[in-house]
Amino acid sequence: MTATPRSTLWTDVDFDRDGKQVDWLYLHHSVTRSAYGEIMIPITVIRNGGGRTVLLMAGNHGDEYEGQIALVKLIRELEPEDIKGRVIILPAANLPAAVAGVRVSPLDGGNLNRSFPGDPAGNPTQRIAHYISSVLFPLCDGFHDLHSGGASLQYLPFASMRQSGDADLDRRSLAALTAFAPPIAIVWAYAGAGTYAASAANERKVPNLGGEFGSAGMVDRAGVALVEAGIRRFLAHFGILPKQAAKAAETPTRLMEIKGRHYYVYAPDHGVFEPAVDLGQDVSSGQLAGHVHFIDNPARPPVPCHFKASGMLICRRAMGRVERGDCVFHLATDVHT
Ligand SMILES: [Zn+2]
Repeated sequence: MTATPRSTLWTDVDFDRDGKQVDWLYLHHSVTRSAYGEIMIPITVIRNGGGRTVLLMAGNHGDEYEGQIALVKLIRELEPEDIKGRVIILPAANLPAAVAGVRVSPLDGGNLNRSFPGDPAGNPTQRIAHYISSVLFPLCDGFHDLHSGGASLQYLPFASMRQSGDADLDRRSLAALTAFAPPIAIVWAYAGAGTYAASAANERKVPNLGGEFGSAGMVDRAGVALVEAGIRRFLAHFGILPKQAAKAAETPTRLMEIKGRHYYVYAPDHGVFEPAVDLGQDVSSGQLAGHVHFIDNPARPPVPCHFKASGMLICRRAMGRVERGDCVFHLATDVHT
């Protein structure tokens, strides 16, 4: 058993052992039906000698499936002799959310991707975040956190990086993003909540990627294929897989960025949202985004909302019902180098 002094999670995995270990992280969770119970979070370590280490993660949000599927397939397919160095895989990082098929943990309401760098004495979600940031990130030369839109959002699939403010780190993350070679690559060019897995990886100076590979709590075949091919190119970029094990991308990458909150549109009232534009469409600042209708009060005129920036629509809300403050659209703009 490997004790992890900085974390309350424990594991039988030996991170320094060659071979393939498909095992668990144990997260203590004592409840009436299981006084000494542990939540067993799957972790796989594949190692073949010295070299670089990459952490691949999915299930940060439970209702985002393309990454979860690609990583459980990779766990079965990848053998130590295929690689040089080490691959650590967490296919269902917030396991309670993943098995329930929901975004946040049903145990504590915790959103793992708003819980970094975590707390070793916090709720289960905070303790998972703390293990990843304090135990796994220090082992890593690269990190990929695979997301999708989840139940509420529809995306044009992309891989992404989040700017850190450290020019050298950003250059290394951009090189990894270029190697992943998605059809659309997004740079999150503003800090946002600052409690993302990417924020903690940036803090630890680990080059890292994210990405949204599917929509609406569904499983998109093209999204799974993009993750599978891109992950192999990502591993080859770090010298873990040989170059010939990664197939070149067929589509050139369009590099885009999201510069701030003004790229987002929020529902101005409670009701049913009728969009006025489609995903992938170019829109202009001031253009109508849609209307909120009041089906329980037909005499009330619908309330419009408008774009505050110009760009291409990369994300829209997947659900018709809205509450005031729900994100209904966000856009991205081309990076001109
Ligand atoms: Zn997500």
